[in-house]
Amino acid sequence: MPTDSKQTIHPRTGMDVDAFREDIKQHLQYTLAKDQYVSTEWDHYHSVVMTVMDRLHDRWIDTQQGYYQQKSKRVYYLSMEYLIGRLLDNMLVNLGLQDVAAEAIEGLGLDYDELRETEVDAGLGNGGLGRLAACFLDSMATLGVPAIGYGIRYDYGIFDQDIEDGWQIEKPDLWLEYGYPWSIVRPRKKYKVQFYGETNASKDKEGRMHFDWVNTHKVNALAYDTPIPGYRNEVVNTLRLWKATSDEGFDLKSFNQGEYIDAVRNNLLEENISRVLYPNDKVFKGQELRLKQEYFLVSASLQDAMQRFKKQFDDLRKIPDQMAVQCNDTHPNLAIPELMRVLMDEEGLEWGPAWDIVTQTTNYTNHTLMPEALEQWPISLMANLLPRHTQIIREIDRRFLNTIEVAGSGEEGDKKDRMRIISNEMNARVRMGNLGIVGARKVNGVSELHSNLMKKTIFRDFARQFPEKFTNVTNGITPRRWLRQCNRALADLISDRIGDDWITQLDQLRRIEQFSEDEEFQDSVRQIKLANKKRLAAYIKKERGVSVDPHSIFDIQIKRIHEYKRQLMALMHAITLYNRLKSNPGADIEPRTLLFAGKAAPGYTMAKLHIKLINNVAEIVNNDPDVSDTLRVLFLPDYSVSLAEKMIPAADLSEQISTAGMEASGTGNMKFALNGALTIGTLDGANIEIREQVRPENIFIFGMTVDDIEHKRREGYEPKEIYDSDEELKQVIDQIHEGYFSPEDPDLFHPITNALLNEGDYFMVLADYRSYVEKQAEVERVYKKKDEWCRKAIINIANMGHFSSDRSIRDYCERIWDVEVD
Ligand SMILES: *Cc1c(COP(=O)(O)O)cnc(C)c1O
Repeated sequence: MPTDSKQTIHPRTGMDVDAFREDIKQHLQYTLAKDQYVSTEWDHYHSVVMTVMDRLHDRWIDTQQGYYQQKSKRVYYLSMEYLIGRLLDNMLVNLGLQDVAAEAIEGLGLDYDELRETEVDAGLGNGGLGRLAACFLDSMATLGVPAIGYGIRYDYGIFDQDIEDGWQIEKPDLWLEYGYPWSIVRPRKKYKVQFYGETNASKDKEGRMHFDWVNTHKVNALAYDTPIPGYRNEVVNTLRLWKATSDEGFDLKSFNQGEYIDAVRNNLLEENISRVLYPNDKVFKGQELRLKQEYFLVSASLQDAMQRFKKQFDDLRKIPDQMAVQCNDTHPNLAIPELMRVLMDEEGLEWGPAWDIVTQTTNYTNHTLMPEALEQWPISLMANLLPRHTQIIREIDRRFLNTIEVAGSGEEGDKKDRMRIISNEMNARVRMGNLGIVGARKVNGVSELHSNLMKKTIFRDFARQFPEKFTNVTNGITPRRWLRQCNRALADLISDRIGDDWITQLDQLRRIEQFSEDEEFQDSVRQIKLANKKRLAAYIKKERGVSVDPHSIFDIQIKRIHEYKRQLMALMHAITLYNRLKSNPGADIEPRTLLFAGKAAPGYTMAKLHIKLINNVAEIVNNDPDVSDTLRVLFLPDYSVSLAEKMIPAADLSEQISTAGMEASGTGNMKFALNGALTIGTLDGANIEIREQVRPENIFIFGMTVDDIEHKRREGYEPKEIYDSDEELKQVIDQIHEGYFSPEDPDLFHPITNALLNEGDYFMVLADYRSYVEKQAEVERVYKKKDEWCRKAIINIANMGHFSSDRSIRDYCERIWDVEVD
């Protein structure tokens, strides 16, 4: 070491081990006031984060200055959810500092893996939709897209899930308990968001009508910024999350009247807006607080965007050249009437020019076709909370209806009723999807199948009227987190063979297909998979006290618990295997470990009962010496991004078994295949595109297609007939029904068997059961041939290039945002 080493250390910016290590020490002592004797794991983690933040800040400032100077068109991504998980690894990988940080940390006698595990997941989302937004942030930064992600800084993210006696118990998610060092509060970035009040109409001197929204209730939106670095490209974008605050309670009037405490307590009502993430996935509940949250996000974000625009431009007609607003589902679709209101009531534009701007600027991504998920706000509720917006929506609807030509009667005659934004019924509702289509420039679905179904089913009238508005952008995942970070050994093996360009050009993975039959490569892939399985087994042993055999098939279904995702079907297969082993102890069944994880919405009784059934089946299977060497079933609690990062690299088999037509895309399916798991799945969502990419012989597809299902529903589906004609199926259902898995409460699972047999089995579990069980037998046959399995796994990895979220973002830039990327 040179004697003048002190001079070579660049505090706060140095990218070498010495500088990094010294800064960790500095932060521990001078920011946190701790020494080696009293510092905790959290202090060490915190010091490391601040050391990383130091290295982000100059890049962050430079990036933002660059966007300003170049007058770049901005992308405003509006999402109620960001499921970003932990950031330490992500930040270090993208800055190219992972090895430097690890060495610096070890040099201080600390453990890098332990530090990484100290971070709490930022769980500001329910599932796929929120995780998509997080992957898109990473890709937008990596591609240098001038984007800002806007969202809400919930005090409580998605609840923590405990399992007690097999039941899901929800606990509050205290992710901010010790502070969140990845964000910086911007005390002066504060906007007023208005609610309630009424509208006043007046005429100006030229006789033009003018509307004012008055006597409103005001809440502050306060900005918290998190830097989002691109992968080794010096770009740092922003995730800006709004927190609701109030300052109106401190007025002198209340103070003097001795109502100080009451006035301060009222602040809490305002602050409730950003208190908690609604834990429902794909189901609409018309609660006022949720509508408040949605408008809060939209209003604060558009004020921020408009302020940025007006600093550099004064011609409002330039807005579409300078902004693209992307609404992640209908949740932020109030952006349409809000931008109208701002342009007319605050900027003085007339309806026509304002509408031209809005319909060239905002875009809407549809995430589901399921009717129970579609947002439809009672107009009375909306008119009370947002009177001016309701007026504007009525006017948008009125003008839109005038453009619809109705030819004839019947189906065609009902067209207007289907297309109206405000439904024509007793308790009229605002259909946020219809509003999105009428007001947006582009509307996209999230896989080829889903986008086509959208045009053929729920939005068919709109697709005929505005064919040019509809497009598809198939979802993707970021290869940084979902391969480079979560499966370093596999990432390094791939880079050894083909270099590391794949990290930003995932199509390059094609070049490993040439090694799919290379014995040495296969061996390495297998060893890495086994090591990942052993690591997961150790985790399961530690967390659940259950031993699982790393040589068994790791068969994994992890995702929200939802009837359409059919966790029940995977479980019924496990019960089938159990029954075969019980009646024939020597049955030739490949050892298998079936792992589930996922949260159920707290009010979704059926999904919670499914969790209980999984746990009860697990209890019986795992404790039965006749079968437990061959079959294990386990539910891992508290599914999260971090748990996904542990489980996915260890998977042999990926369960993607939704009822065809119901999973819009899926992204879990992509993560598994990228990590060398084979998929068993239905022809649904992006599974179809995965099949095209990996070729049909390298994926296990079974079950009914969308057309089969439509046909079956039309001709009258009779689940009872299937039950009566399939002995194994009948046994499984009877066992569930008769309390084989709940001897202490034999009727416990009747709601499940009733749904299947007496209530029409809406998700068609019985109809697909036999083809699923047969396909699982094929899985076993292939798994026994280790080389063939491994060859298929390599082919899967090699053909996942299409599913990089970098590709998705390029598609958005080209098809929707009109933003150039190179
Ligand atoms: C990817 C991901 C999802 C989405 O999974 P699907 O299988 O597509 O439903 C949900 N939750 C987490 C934590 C994820 O990482």
